[in-house]
Amino acid sequence: MPAPREPSPAMLPATLSLEQAAATSWQVVIGGAGPAGAAAALRFARRGLRVLLVDRGSMPRWKVCGCCLSLTALDELRQLEWVADDGHLLPEHALPLQRVRLSAAGHTAMIPLPGGAVVSREVLDHTLVSSAVRAGCHWLPDTQIVTADEDWTEHGAGHASVTVRHPSGSAGTQATLRAELVVIASGLGGHVRTTSAMEVRRSVDRHSRIGVGATLPAGSIDLPPGLLEMTISSDGYCGMIRLEDGRIDLAAAIDPRSLRGATTPEQATLRLLRTTQSDRAAAIAARLLSSSAEFQATPRLTHATEVATSPAGRILRAGDAAAYVEPFTGEGIGWALASGRILAETLLPALVVPGRSSPAAHAAAAARYRQAHLRHFRPLHGRCRLIALALRRPALVAAAIRATRFAPWAAQRLVPRLIGRGRAGVQPA
Ligand SMILES: Cc1cc2nc3c(=O)[nH]c(=O)nc-3n(C[C@H](O)[C@H](O)[C@H](O)COP(=O)(O)OP(=O)(O)OC[C@H]3O[C@@H](n4cnc5c(N)ncnc54)[C@H](O)[C@@H]3O)c2cc1C
Repeated sequence: MPAPREPSPAMLPATLSLEQAAATSWQVVIGGAGPAGAAAALRFARRGLRVLLVDRGSMPRWKVCGCCLSLTALDELRQLEWVADDGHLLPEHALPLQRVRLSAAGHTAMIPLPGGAVVSREVLDHTLVSSAVRAGCHWLPDTQIVTADEDWTEHGAGHASVTVRHPSGSAGTQATLRAELVVIASGLGGHVRTTSAMEVRRSVDRHSRIGVGATLPAGSIDLPPGLLEMTISSDGYCGMIRLEDGRIDLAAAIDPRSLRGATTPEQATLRLLRTTQSDRAAAIAARLLSSSAEFQATPRLTHATEVATSPAGRILRAGDAAAYVEPFTGEGIGWALASGRILAETLLPALVVPGRSSPAAHAAAAARYRQAHLRHFRPLHGRCRLIALALRRPALVAAAIRATRFAPWAAQRLVPRLIGRGRAGVQPA
């Protein structure tokens, strides 16, 4: 068994104070330092822009996530020069993702997943933000964006401003930050109020599941490195994977109805595992019961929100704050990185070329971002919505698992398409 890797990286200190941030005229302020915000910040900083990345938390930080990097995520990281030419993922902490053991309604299949990787969100997000800071981006942790609005004059909106709250002092400190562009990359749960005249269109799928996650101590569950343990029931699905330091990451998508009454996220996860008719899932549930892991839940997962949330396009959304669909295929990090890239690529011309940051040029760039975002994500999200529907029928999943015994070649072709990956093969367990 390989030795556990290093624990979480050291805390990333702020590069300036709130007062200094409020006294600076920024080109870009980004609220939320997950993969979407950090990828955009890194690109803007590399082009020499005055960029400020703000997060209500600090780095490293934990978040509900399955911690699997898809081929898309690795490709996006490669574009950020984060994956070496030999395919080696930087930092070296990441483990290769090799296969998934899929269990539903008493049936199990082992499906190879070559090419992916596993890394804790503490390491991934910390390293991305550190890269942005090294490229010249300023970093202000423990600072929450409360509202965002555009500043209008008779020539249009030349700026946007955000009010932020920092927990210093008993009542906290508030300040206003100004920028040519504000990016809201606050994930699923980070609500930022906009007071602009435009009504923000947001649709949350009524049937959407919620996310639940926990980290279990190293050795609490016998899980070899690189194996994703995935169980599916009518209440939802739950994935477990070993992280680089030996801890076990647990991430589940659960029907919110199973959380009614006094049921906690932990109890709902245990119920999900017990109803999959799998001895292994039942054994894992028993280990979970005796662990002291803290479970956290997210808001509803599947939603779509207008990416240009203000009349002049000075306030834009990226990553989960713009749209997300249930996490079964493990693509959210790749989507968030792509969203940050598309935003930076479409907005950079309006921000870096002198004289092109006029309200009209900016609004045109924001409209291009909206179009590019729709074009890129509509088919990907459509595929994932179909998968989410199929997963609500564990008997269907069990039939598909049984079919892999008779036609492994069909699954070999179908599985990569379903989950947006390259080649994979299927072996009944
Ligand atoms: C159960 C589950 C399992 C998943 N498994 C996988 C997986 O295996 N692989 C995968 O690729 N994806 C997975 N995902 C999806 C993935 O976690 C997200 O899609 C991804 O983290 C989105 O990145 P983001 O940058 O948009 O937001 P986040 O990573 O959520 O980052 C948002 C940041 O904004 C900050 N913030 C929030 N509000 C404010 C505010 N008002 N002001 C300032 N800062 C704020 C937060 O502190 C946070 O740091 C999973 C998701 C869930 C729920």
